[in-house]
Amino acid sequence: MFSPGLVVITGPMFSGKSAELIRRLTIAKIAKLETRVFKPAIDTRTGDEIRSREGSFLPAIIVKDVEEIFKQSESVRVVGIDEAHFFSNGLASVVLKLVRSGKQVIVAGLNLDFQERPFPSMPELLALADEIVQVYALCTACNERIATRSQRLIPGDEQYVVGDAEYAARCLVCYKTQV
Ligand SMILES: [Zn+2]
Repeated sequence: MFSPGLVVITGPMFSGKSAELIRRLTIAKIAKLETRVFKPAIDTRTGDEIRSREGSFLPAIIVKDVEEIFKQSESVRVVGIDEAHFFSNGLASVVLKLVRSGKQVIVAGLNLDFQERPFPSMPELLALADEIVQVYALCTACNERIATRSQRLIPGDEQYVVGDAEYAARCLVCYKTQV
């Protein structure tokens, strides 16, 4: 289970990315590997923990920038990073430094924003990944097809709008670029 390298968990909103991150970190904890999980300060939904919609959670360290992740990972074997799409371009180089020092880094982040644009750090992380875990939601418009898109339900062009009620999971057929 443990091998140094980069695992990227990606998919749309409501696809269980945090649940998969928590599941993998929990397995490492049971094996007595030191783990630590970070989340960006911009995401204030769940305080100082990461939490899945199925109810699992882990305490998390809130960081304002990616350098803090590196500084606080020295003795850690498995580093988790949730909501990775909120970090700047610098995340990939920090993750690479951690991986090269023998750690496993598990990153969870959105595949695309509400207009099907990649976020700053995710394409690079996906290209560097040793393992990609693609997760899916179910479309809540047709309730039938797998969802790969995050539909924003409110007007506006800002790339970063944090919230759950403002989004819905959509399949390629039901997804619209603008509401
Ligand atoms: Zn649909």
